[in-house]
Amino acid sequence: RIVLGIESSCDETGVGLVRLSDDGRVELLADAVASSVDEHARFGGVVPEIASRAHLTAMGPTMRRALEDSGLALSDVDAIAVTAGPGLAGALMVGVASAKAYATALNVPLFGVNHLGGHVAVDTLEHGPLPERCLALLVSGGHSQLLLVEGVGEKITEVGTTIDDAAGEAYDKVARILDLPYPGGPPIDQQAKLGDPKAIAFPRGLTGPRDARHDFSFSGLKTAVARWVETERREGREIPVPDVCASFQEAVADVLTMKAVRAAQDHDVDTLVISGGVAANSRLSGLARERCAAAGIELRVPRPRLCTDNGAMIAALGAHVLHSGAKPSPLDMPANPGLPVDTIVVQ
Ligand code: ATP
Ligand code: MG
Ligand code: FE
Repeated sequence: RIVLGIESSCDETGVGLVRLSDDGRVELLADAVASSVDEHARFGGVVPEIASRAHLTAMGPTMRRALEDSGLALSDVDAIAVTAGPGLAGALMVGVASAKAYATALNVPLFGVNHLGGHVAVDTLEHGPLPERCLALLVSGGHSQLLLVEGVGEKITEVGTTIDDAAGEAYDKVARILDLPYPGGPPIDQQAKLGDPKAIAFPRGLTGPRDARHDFSFSGLKTAVARWVETERREGREIPVPDVCASFQEAVADVLTMKAVRAAQDHDVDTLVISGGVAANSRLSGLARERCAAAGIELRVPRPRLCTDNGAMIAALGAHVLHSGAKPSPLDMPANPGLPVDTIVVQ
């Protein structure tokens, strides 16, 4: 069966197509993405109104491109999945309205699915079926969470989350402090390669002996970077940008990997998936590889293109939901900006 996925929760308009086999395996057929990231750059973050408008103009062309790339026609589609939440209200609405229109016109079932579940499901397109239980570290511009996955289309529960900023948000804010371009992840990653990760001892939030939960905090780190840079500037010293980037990046990667490994051990799972835009970070994947190997945990990181927001991840989750035999979502299903992570499909 062919599943079409539509994503519009933030600044990427994505349309993906996957094939679901009878045994539950999924195969990537097309993954078309249009991003409005350049339109948000001069504001230093995603502007909801601009994102919604961009989705409206990009949806049709992105749909056509996905169909062209796959060589399929709309009439080949057997089910439609769409991001029902979480995300920006106006942005989500564009995808949900489009999906309802296609589902009605084609007379196929509609599944309103969870964006965060999509970030986990996408790994099955790259590395095949996931074990029955695994842990996912989801790190992007809007999210930093540890998820316990017990059937990717069936049960996902949050075991840790950020209490303030998301990891990607911290990258974007630190880039701004250092006058690096938006989004901050890629330029900081580049600069960090030229610097010394031990140059400055930045704080590791929520890693004290009393922090038993698997939560994160990144706003203290961002403030520490801001203070450090401010002091240097005030004293008239030149900012060693590569050292600041390397030291900041080390703090982020250290905390994320330490907590992910600990959570995997606490929940007795031996597979860790890292996804979301920050999964593209070279130090995060490098350190995760080291620490997972030492702890006997299998590490799975989808390729960067699949880690950032896209339609294929929604099609993949839709396919797993379809395979699990779940009921389709009602056609009057609303977009839900605050959709809880344990709601995989809206019923
Ligand atoms: P959502 O949170 O809903 O998934 P988003 O658009 O913010 O939405 P993504 O597109 O998955 O999330 O990721 C974008 C984030 O990833 C940005 O904050 C960006 O700085 C960060 N990022 C991208 N590449 C890297 C990298 N190499 N290192 C660190 N962070 C990165
Ligand atoms: Mg994005
Ligand atoms: Fe996302």
